[in-house]
Amino acid sequence: MTKRVLLGQFMHETNTFCQRLTDEAAFRGFYCHQDDTVLPALGNTENEVAGFADIARAEGWDLITPVATFATPGGPVTQRAWHAFGERILTAARESRTLDAVLLSLHGAMVLEDGSDGDARLVQELRAILGKDAVIAVTLDLHANLDPKMANDADIIVSYKTFPHVDMRETGRRAAGLLRGMLARPPVRARTLVRKPAMMTLPEGGRTDRDPMLGLMARAQTLADMHPAILDVSLNAGFCFADVPEIGPSVSVVHLGAAEIAEQIADTLCKAMWEERHASQEAVLTPQKAAKVATSHLAGEHDGPLVLADISDNPGDGAYADATALLAALLERGGSDILFGALHDPEAVLAAQAAGQGNMLALALGGKSDPAFGGGPLQVNALVEHLGDGRFICGGPMWKGVSQSAGPSALLRIDGIKVLVTSHATQALDLEIFRSNAVDPAAMRVVALKSTQHFRAAYASIASGIVLVDSGGLASPRLDRLEYRRVPRPVYPLDPS
Ligand SMILES: [Zn+2]
Repeated sequence: MTKRVLLGQFMHETNTFCQRLTDEAAFRGFYCHQDDTVLPALGNTENEVAGFADIARAEGWDLITPVATFATPGGPVTQRAWHAFGERILTAARESRTLDAVLLSLHGAMVLEDGSDGDARLVQELRAILGKDAVIAVTLDLHANLDPKMANDADIIVSYKTFPHVDMRETGRRAAGLLRGMLARPPVRARTLVRKPAMMTLPEGGRTDRDPMLGLMARAQTLADMHPAILDVSLNAGFCFADVPEIGPSVSVVHLGAAEIAEQIADTLCKAMWEERHASQEAVLTPQKAAKVATSHLAGEHDGPLVLADISDNPGDGAYADATALLAALLERGGSDILFGALHDPEAVLAAQAAGQGNMLALALGGKSDPAFGGGPLQVNALVEHLGDGRFICGGPMWKGVSQSAGPSALLRIDGIKVLVTSHATQALDLEIFRSNAVDPAAMRVVALKSTQHFRAAYASIASGIVLVDSGGLASPRLDRLEYRRVPRPVYPLDPS
């Protein structure tokens, strides 16, 4: 008999220290597809929804697709946004005839305005609507702050295994594949067991192109392969810019009636995470030192640009993306063929539009959200080189084929530096964000980005070198600047260990 499966996506990574609330428009502005538009938009892209659809098509499942949406990380998700998207999924579940299963693509670090865990709430309310028989399978981002209680309501919980996240579609396939197994042999039910070490994050956010996460992932796979009743082992690095009780890394183990083995595996991996807490990390430079390296680079011959990645002002971590300290340091040193962006400043975009393409304007650029995090506005004279609507289709590898929008955008030139200014805070993790605004990063000699790790997926292959920078933005690894009140104590690194 044809299985009826509800497919939904509602993803947000909430930085509770960010003053900019994440409203309905933030989701609709980035991407938001509803009902019959979900599968045409995302069904053949590098996205979890495509992974779900791959299995669903093969199995002939009858899919109900109320919504698939994502917003750039930022402050807490508003009630209106919850109502628009979370309630939409719940309403679809209520109104559907009998559902056999739900496939949900969540981030795992969504915090609502009242401080509650949006992901756990959605899964809990779905379970209450569906009763105990329907299977709920959830995919999470590797940076989920997973509350172990979610496993009371969701049968299957699996996460990305890569950072940069280049396995979104594969993760969707894994979850839907496990669901297929459950639907094929009721009443045998998979369960998920979750354990957490007393930490806020893993070194370097759990980047999977080097140790310790590389080794931890390999160890998790070895343990999973040893036991046929262990269906999946996921490691979440957690998201540290959230003052929430569920903060921190976790291990989730999907098993078939093997709770004891799952618990041993989870405990082993939690201990291994804890033991890696002091692992060495790649050097991070001040803006002044990074600008000096850029000057040396400009003086030499290189095959490809030097990439300066400001990890502290990454909007992908909920930072404001308008820190100016690195731009100021680059302007002070001078040079040409330098690209900087994407800088979030809707006022500057409006001013550029008013001036018109090809014209000069004087403006106060960036630094408007909170000058305490990376510097205040810079007074500059700029040439408006290009105006665009900010829409682009990701060239990948991350999100390949997914259509996104950075909002109305302006490419400004200030002395020898081209600055991409956008109306929505958007991480420059894809080359197309620049190319769609008439500038090719590969043709530049220095590219200064606001990104922690995702940029590597697209930029590592064009870069002749990469330098990490901390300009003091909201997502600086210096966590002692933030005031945590709700995290369980003791916890690493806030308490000595
Ligand atoms: Zn992530």
